[in-house]
Amino acid sequence: MKSLLCTLILTSNAFTVIGQDPDSGHAYHKGNVMGSSLEIEIFGVDQETCDRALKDALQEINRIDRMMTDWKAESPLMNINHNAGKKPVSVPDDLYLLIERSVQLSRLTEGAFDITFAGAGKLWNWRAPSPEIPEPGVVQKALQNVGWDGIQLNKPEKSVFLKNPGMRIGLGAIAPGYAGDRAIRKIRSHGIRNAMVNMSGEILAIGLKNGETWKIGIRHPRKEDENIAMIPLSNLAIATSGDYERYFIKNGKRYCHIIDPRTGYPANLCQSVTITAPHMVVADALSTAVFVLGPEKGMALIEKMEGVEGMIVDTSGNVHVSPGLKK
Ligand code: AMP
Ligand code: MG
Repeated sequence: MKSLLCTLILTSNAFTVIGQDPDSGHAYHKGNVMGSSLEIEIFGVDQETCDRALKDALQEINRIDRMMTDWKAESPLMNINHNAGKKPVSVPDDLYLLIERSVQLSRLTEGAFDITFAGAGKLWNWRAPSPEIPEPGVVQKALQNVGWDGIQLNKPEKSVFLKNPGMRIGLGAIAPGYAGDRAIRKIRSHGIRNAMVNMSGEILAIGLKNGETWKIGIRHPRKEDENIAMIPLSNLAIATSGDYERYFIKNGKRYCHIIDPRTGYPANLCQSVTITAPHMVVADALSTAVFVLGPEKGMALIEKMEGVEGMIVDTSGNVHVSPGLKK
């Protein structure tokens, strides 16, 4: 389970932005979805609109969860996995498009982001009371089932086929971001200008909170109660991937939940990676990809991408910040 990475800092001095109606409505929700925490906050001109926007956003997130979860055996995503090596499976539009997007991201990140990581990821059981490191031979063998070029997409049929029977896909690094973008879209469709969706630390905030930019505290990767940075956010998404979210330590070595698809072993070049981007789906996927790539290649990727900024804490605890974020 992902932990709550970021804390929202409350600001109390409300004022009205000139030319806008004052926000007298406020809706707030805190709960769980996709195996992690969910927080939604909405400010709007009247209470009824805020409540309707919140209801719509929750419905949308739950719809996406049912489609993309790998926790429930009967989801459309799991249907693809169950039919790996057997037959193509037609899936709902959202799922097809997100898998297509995931493959594009694999190309862009030279395979660091790869939803077929799950072919090797299934060997690692972070939740076990005493997790074991799989045998090197077993990891090596599982790599046959990892590789985004084994995903066959058929656009007219909206079908997905995994070439090998042992292949699996998992959307844990991208589905929460997608759900967040969709939730904000629903909220906006009610005319709401000021809102925030927080899916266990992956956050998209629009407009302002009480007249000021939303402020996001980024957790220090080695000090649970300390922030390593405060980032102001307005009409921007932020996501953090950290090696403290789900991990175990064996013989002094940390094994975290992000898998390097090239080795089948947990990635070990970073302690945490924070990405800001216009869309949450991009921030979510890139934070995972940069975590795998490490500080050098990761920062090069961040700098290459329009509208994307980032902060990387490497394994020695050194902090690397992209020039745009420093500003
Ligand atoms: P995040 O916390 O957003 O970095 O997402 C981590 C989750 O993404 C893991 O729990 C896995 O479900 C999944 N994942 C792990 N490694 C990879 C990878 N290399 N590419 C894509 N998804 C991954
Ligand atoms: Mg991610």
